[in-house]
Amino acid sequence: KYHNELVELKGNIRVFCRVRPKIKEDGGGLMGNIVVDYDRDDNGLIYVNNKGRSQTFELDLVFTPESTQNQVFDEVQSLVTSCVDGFNVCIFAYGQTGSGKTYTMEGNKENPGINQRALAMLFKETEDRGQDWTYTITVSVMEIYNEMIRDLLSGDPSYKMEVKMKSEGGLHVPGLCSEEVKSVDDVNQVFALGQKNRATATTNMNEHSSRSHALLTVQVHGVNKTTNVKTLGKLNLVDLAGSERVSKSGADGTRLKEAQNINKSLSCLGDVIHALRSKQNHVPYRNSKLTYLLQDSLGGDSKTLMIVQIAPVEKNLGESVCSLNFAQRVR
Ligand code: ADP
Ligand code: MG
Repeated sequence: KYHNELVELKGNIRVFCRVRPKIKEDGGGLMGNIVVDYDRDDNGLIYVNNKGRSQTFELDLVFTPESTQNQVFDEVQSLVTSCVDGFNVCIFAYGQTGSGKTYTMEGNKENPGINQRALAMLFKETEDRGQDWTYTITVSVMEIYNEMIRDLLSGDPSYKMEVKMKSEGGLHVPGLCSEEVKSVDDVNQVFALGQKNRATATTNMNEHSSRSHALLTVQVHGVNKTTNVKTLGKLNLVDLAGSERVSKSGADGTRLKEAQNINKSLSCLGDVIHALRSKQNHVPYRNSKLTYLLQDSLGGDSKTLMIVQIAPVEKNLGESVCSLNFAQRVR
């Protein structure tokens, strides 16, 4: 149904859109009207009914509300397995709170998302190649909030981690925990610890998760059994903070500062991808913690996928148009 090969031709940056189904929280009435439509022949197009005017957006691929977690992963798996060959990869879920970012990345027990499927796929792929290579897979889990980083696998998940440049090039976070995982069970244990630590010192988990970026970094270390050649590929899976605009009048000081920091890091991410896409000489990685941290996985021969999530109803029209404009800018 989808044209993986076609998308493959478009270089190292891809932008997908996923429209979640209408849910009961969307409500009824005019505000609950569906305002998005798709093209029967071109699965890169999405139409938005913007107050009677139809606006067209073009992406590399659009997932409709009917698309399953499996179909989404189908289009992502070649990126995931490229880490085994030593490529660095970033997959971002972007969109307003409630648009389905966490559903796409984490999913739930019945319908696991990209994170779990990616690790299961990496176990399989590394096992298949096990004749000539020995692989070790490790994971780290971080959160970025207000331009501060915390290690969610650490015994002390406070915001104290720093990003440092390594002498041999590349970025790292000194002291960051990384856990070796060998099975889906290991992965689930690590994810559960990350969740538990993320809730530490947070009063409202939903609000907090919408205002912080959640980052899962998977490292695949390979050693060739005969030549001893080593490879390292990194897969960064990022559930971004909500992209919704916050009105200056309603927000208190803390909320305003959070909103400014989110705004800054999302627009900086947009700037970086835009600069890479348009082959500009200067890429402004240093303007936010997120892009600085991911510097060695954005650009060069790294691969980037941005999944722009939107809700299908009138109530979210303004934010959906903003998100699709963001998508157009980075594409
Ligand atoms: P976000 O992380 O962007 O705030 P969520 O992932 O929490 O949004 O999604 C909001 C709600 O919509 C959740 O109840 C989630 O289960 C549901 N949802 C999102 N995407 C889908 C989907 N593709 N299919 C079914 N339900 C979805
Ligand atoms: Mg979420």
